[in-house]
Amino acid sequence: MEMTVSRILDGKAIAKTVRAEVSARVRALRARGITPGLTVVLVGDDPASQVYVRNKDKAAAEAGFAARTLRLPATTRQAELLDLIDALNRDPGVHGVLLQLPLPKGLDAEAVLERLDPAKDVDGLTPRNVAALWRGEDALVPCTPAGCIELLDRHGIAIEGKRAVVIGRSQLVGKPLAALLLARNATVTIAHSRSRDLAGVAREAEILVAAVGRAKLVKASWVRPGAVVLDVGINRQEDGRLCGDVDFHDVLPVVGAITPVPGGVGPMTIAMLLANTVRAAARSAGIDPSALGSA
Ligand code: NAP
Repeated sequence: MEMTVSRILDGKAIAKTVRAEVSARVRALRARGITPGLTVVLVGDDPASQVYVRNKDKAAAEAGFAARTLRLPATTRQAELLDLIDALNRDPGVHGVLLQLPLPKGLDAEAVLERLDPAKDVDGLTPRNVAALWRGEDALVPCTPAGCIELLDRHGIAIEGKRAVVIGRSQLVGKPLAALLLARNATVTIAHSRSRDLAGVAREAEILVAAVGRAKLVKASWVRPGAVVLDVGINRQEDGRLCGDVDFHDVLPVVGAITPVPGGVGPMTIAMLLANTVRAAARSAGIDPSALGSA
């Protein structure tokens, strides 16, 4: 009988490597008199956002960035937020701006993103960067999707020619990840809440991505034997523990490789945010980012 030996794709370890590479690039830039600056903008007091922002700030400071978080009250008006973005766009010490989403009710995130300088858009969400991604041009790419690709690459998992199915079509994860897989010559299907026979669609995948936000949605019967499964979902269970969109223990005997939750895609997101920021800083100084080493 044929045996599938599944591999756990260790995002924590890869993220550590990427962050070390980023630190080396930061040092190289600082040696040329440039300290990469990342500003995170947090509006309101959403508890999950507070945690994410703290982690981003800490990781950026550890990697040698000039990192700061601007905390604004939930009562902030749209015009004030736009003025702040204008000021950050003008500030030469700020190379990357991350607008923590979601914004409180009453604020228009799309309008804020439209205002942000695409060269400082380290989350890859401005219209210009979204268009560049789909046009196959060089762009700052959303961090979680970029982290998924990095995880595959660093495990030597080929993408070209493969059947990829992405479940989820958000602006933040599903769509940009589909665009990246397409740019790498996968044959890509995007599935969502209105897809018919989701299990059947998923079963076609050699690379299956779940970016849904439904705990343990993907079962063994959804997975083609030997498939690589990337679990982007972060869901809190009743006992307080985190789990993904994939029923990890159910699918484990079937998959070729899989990312765990936590410790899979999650840690890659911050690593790629730092990689994007150092790239933006190098570009702003007219330095080819690849001249600073990998990542
Ligand atoms: P989102 O904006 O809520 O999008 C969810 C997508 O899943 C939508 O396209 C939705 O379809 C689809 N969907 C919902 N229920 C479905 C179902 N029963 N069957 C098939 N498709 C379904 O979420 P997101 O921002 O993309 O995030 C997805 C998950 O990833 C969440 O758990 C989030 O916490 C996690 N996440 C993790 C990271 C990380 O760093 N690892 C980063 C970002 C997000 P429709 O479009 O038809 O509504």
